[in-house]
Amino acid sequence: MLFSELPLVNPLQRAVRAVGYEQPTPIQEQSIPSLLEGKDLLGIAQTGTGKTAAFALPILQRLLDSGKFRAPKTCRALILLPTRELAIQVEECFKQYAQFTAISTTCIFGGVSDASQKRNLIRGVDVLVATPGRLLDLIGQKAVSLKALEFFVLDEADRMLDMGFIHDIRKVVALLPQVRQNLFFSATMPDDITKLAATILRPNPVRVEVAPQSTPIERIRQELYRIDKRRKGALLKELLLAHPEMKKVLVFSRTKHGADKITRVLEKAGIKCSAIHGNKSQNRRQEALGNFKKESIRVLVATDIAARGIDVDDVSHVFNYDLPDVPETFVHRIGRTARAGKDGIAISFCAPDEEQDLRAIEKLTRIRIPEGDKAIYEKLPPQQKETPESEMRNARGRLPRRENPAHGKPAQPKTAQKNAQPKPAQKPAQPARGEHPAPSNNAPAQGNAPRHRRRNRPGSRARRRMREAASN
Ligand code: AMP
Repeated sequence: MLFSELPLVNPLQRAVRAVGYEQPTPIQEQSIPSLLEGKDLLGIAQTGTGKTAAFALPILQRLLDSGKFRAPKTCRALILLPTRELAIQVEECFKQYAQFTAISTTCIFGGVSDASQKRNLIRGVDVLVATPGRLLDLIGQKAVSLKALEFFVLDEADRMLDMGFIHDIRKVVALLPQVRQNLFFSATMPDDITKLAATILRPNPVRVEVAPQSTPIERIRQELYRIDKRRKGALLKELLLAHPEMKKVLVFSRTKHGADKITRVLEKAGIKCSAIHGNKSQNRRQEALGNFKKESIRVLVATDIAARGIDVDDVSHVFNYDLPDVPETFVHRIGRTARAGKDGIAISFCAPDEEQDLRAIEKLTRIRIPEGDKAIYEKLPPQQKETPESEMRNARGRLPRRENPAHGKPAQPKTAQKNAQPKPAQKPAQPARGEHPAPSNNAPAQGNAPRHRRRNRPGSRARRRMREAASN
């Protein structure tokens, strides 16, 4: 099917041609006709399937057809998204698709001053793209009202719930007029999402399900490098230097501190890169993303939370510098490449203490990741001489913080740790020169902390992950 065969009006057909789409993706083909008829829609689809155009084009057409006009401090269509980056990207899409119409759009999100956002709402807007917190804030300040709303889209519903937005969503839904067209998108449909959808959609919505998670993954070529964690930076650098075809590279780091460290290694090697994570200001993140999109930097290093909003075309390679300990995160990460029918390559580094994570990932994806070209290991500088563990233990048989699994990821698989007997110390703890780490954001208090606080208490890893997720 061609776009020209869809019943879209001329200004939208022109816009679609201008952005270079020829054929609708499956979700577009299945959703656009029903949405043009005014039906509600439940879309089960991930980012990368073309779902934004699937809802934006029919909404624009119905806004044009309805003969209504925007009133001051109101919006006619509201698109709710979980992150600022996603909100900005979706508004950019609306702008592109509406470029040959008089439809107005604006975007509101937290983390920046609300002054210009309020100014943009004074005269009213046709399409408002928003994150829930800032929307409620501006409604509270009477900068915008939802009373004239005609279209409501809840996008990325599963992520919204993951990020704790359920109460905000309920508050927004309570403010919507009864008569409206609703669109609800989620990558997955567990029970709580199904229940939420039922409170928003009219009965018997059109249900469209596309691209189950396994389909894109099979299109992604994968490679695995088993490597000590201290040599990951050198390996990444060598791979990038050896492969100029790695043009638009997204690197995932588990921590913000790690992301900064990676950029320092690459910058030193003359590789243009930036990091995005929760410690970077909104402007710096947008700048980095913009530079990556227009390819003025080759590598973008991101934490999982910061990467949630990334929608960049043609990511050629995704690197899992650290393996995620939630296997589903791996699927989300590598799905950043091989978008919209294109091929992609995902390269994963696995340190000895990540073998368990690797097994969980291979089990979930049912794919055994093949090992990459081993010749690259020869290009790496020789491994720094490491102090044998027996020499690093102090008089009490404890390892220094960096080496001690109680203070970070376990250095060995859990069973091995259990079996390992602390050896009597020969010397006091001496971390290798230059290896003494800056205190990690996640490290528990140390030094004079009472002994019981330094033990690896059950659940401490989970708590650390939650703190990390909240701040990344
Ligand atoms: P989305 O799932 O909406 O985030 O879209 C993923 C990417 O696919 C975006 O970069 C879109 O510009 C692109 N895209 C959407 N629809 C089409 C299409 N029909 N043909 C080619 N690319 C598309």
